[in-house]
Amino acid sequence: MTTIGFVGLGIMGSPMASNLLRAGFDVVGFDLVASSLERLAAEGGTVATSVARATAEADVVITMLPNHPQVEAVAFGDGGVLESAKPGTLYVDMSSIRPQTSRRIAEEGTAKGVRVLDAPVSGGEQGAIDGVLSIMVGGPAEDFAAAAPVFDVLGKTVVHVGPHGAGQTVKAANQLVVGGTYALVAEAIVLLEASGLDAGVGLDVLAGGLAASRILDLKRESMVARRFAPGFRIDLHHKDMGIVLDAAREAEVALPVGGLVAQLIASARASGHGSLDHSALLKVAESLSGK
Ligand code: NAD
Repeated sequence: MTTIGFVGLGIMGSPMASNLLRAGFDVVGFDLVASSLERLAAEGGTVATSVARATAEADVVITMLPNHPQVEAVAFGDGGVLESAKPGTLYVDMSSIRPQTSRRIAEEGTAKGVRVLDAPVSGGEQGAIDGVLSIMVGGPAEDFAAAAPVFDVLGKTVVHVGPHGAGQTVKAANQLVVGGTYALVAEAIVLLEASGLDAGVGLDVLAGGLAASRILDLKRESMVARRFAPGFRIDLHHKDMGIVLDAAREAEVALPVGGLVAQLIASARASGHGSLDHSALLKVAESLSGK
């Protein structure tokens, strides 16, 4: 049986670990939050008391952490993944982080005989629960092939997009489109309601035409009802827009709409909505119109 060390059992990591357990993998998990570890144990997983213990006997290590400082601490720190992993271990970081960190992990991992992939995901909490995430993978083709049995449990659209770091750049493009879509759905709701119309009815029509999107499908009801429990926190999307704009600078391209979306998300965060779902961009759209 393949043993998977899983570090970061939050909104996404927890259901991903559950799916791996149900598929018959042996999962040894670590998180800083006790309730996440209790849930893993209740589902038949093994609780580790440190990153080193989650890593030492693992064939595959997965990290699903908020941002690059946490990934760097877990990967490079004392007792971290690269120090504790057996040679030949496959280390798959599925967090959304800047590509430079993914490339550094790959460089240092390779020097220690650890195989590394960056494999960020899209599909949200529901996609993680249902095991239908989109997974964008950067790294060598043979390591991508070795990880396929794990990816098949977690995702539906699993694509090898290029060398180390490429998964993160594709994820940045994903976050650009997702942020922009939320911003425009929010503006559509403000427009419809200010025009005296039922926004829910209006969005039902949009969802059947060219404006259709997964965001309209999954989130229009909760947005119109102003239910903003995360999901995906504004704080995390703010982090992702920073990655998007850094990637744009590095690639020497202009992303004017992306820049505006980044500022709208910054405004949501500065207004104290950082821990709400990113659909709370509706609050910014409303306040810009005095609603
Ligand atoms: P989260 O905050 O719910 O989970 C992160 C987990 O990491 C927490 O349980 C936290 O305790 C744990 N953690 C932090 N530092 C740690 C450390 N040093 N050692 C062990 N555990 C540690 O975040 P999330 O929503 O699950 O997102 C995780 C990653 O996935 C982020 O990079 C995010 O951008 C990305 N992502 C999230 C979604 C979503 O819808 N939530 C969708 C796609 C991608």
